[in-house]
Amino acid sequence: MTMKNPLEERPNTRMKQKGFLTMLKAPLPLILILADLSVSIASASDAYPTIPGTGDCLRTDGLVPVRREVYGNGRIIDITHRITPEMPSFERLGQILWLAHSMKNGSSFNFSLMKLPAHTGTHVDAPGHYFDQYFDAGFDVDTLDLEVLNGPALLIDVPRDKNITAEVMESLKIPRGVRRVLFRTLNTDRGLMYKNFFDTSFVGFKEDGAKWLVKNTDIKLVGIDYLSIAAFDDDISSHLALLESREIIVVEGLKLDDVPTGLYNVHCLPLRFPGAEGSPIRCILME
Ligand SMILES: [Zn+2]
Repeated sequence: MTMKNPLEERPNTRMKQKGFLTMLKAPLPLILILADLSVSIASASDAYPTIPGTGDCLRTDGLVPVRREVYGNGRIIDITHRITPEMPSFERLGQILWLAHSMKNGSSFNFSLMKLPAHTGTHVDAPGHYFDQYFDAGFDVDTLDLEVLNGPALLIDVPRDKNITAEVMESLKIPRGVRRVLFRTLNTDRGLMYKNFFDTSFVGFKEDGAKWLVKNTDIKLVGIDYLSIAAFDDDISSHLALLESREIIVVEGLKLDDVPTGLYNVHCLPLRFPGAEGSPIRCILME
């Protein structure tokens, strides 16, 4: 796998990189304390300057909607990517919205139709995604446990020079009892979710890392920052390891740019769509 130096693409993450490396060596309680401090720093109104499409527009008529990454002075952090036709996807997205009834064409209202792959952008995988017997039995996104998708969660950084292997998992020293973990990787540094093509050089869980998580942790919600939880070469085996028990929920394509590591409350809600093995999902972090 060849990768560009992430620091070339996102120069403003240089300082953070150094911080991440230092923090990875620190024991977890210290990381949590440090994370707490950085959460208040992130409350500044100019947070998240690196997200495209955000920021002030100059218009004189006052009709400028605000697009935010944080709400309530940083109390709520949106970790969902905007769905756009240009965003990377397993299937080419093309047109995703049609204005079927338009006020410009005489309708008394605007009314759009949309068409999306179920695994578009920030999304969730149901057990039926990789197990046909689960698909037939109806283990779709409507059956996912909202208790798993909502609650205390740890946002952590993983080493940037490798996939998430068993060795990496072990080195992270995630305490037993932690049930929700969002893994930030090199994918975020490289801005892969902001490219207009599916980049197969993303990182994710190797099979042994997924199996290690299942066997040695209490994690039931596994989040990652690109479209697949699995490393490209272990796509099937890692998904199988994570989804087999039907107790672990996989959330992919999270937007974790500039969010300080630490403990949050995560809230993720998929569409209530019987029969769908995946669904776009809205995820937020709250302090
Ligand atoms: Zn998926």
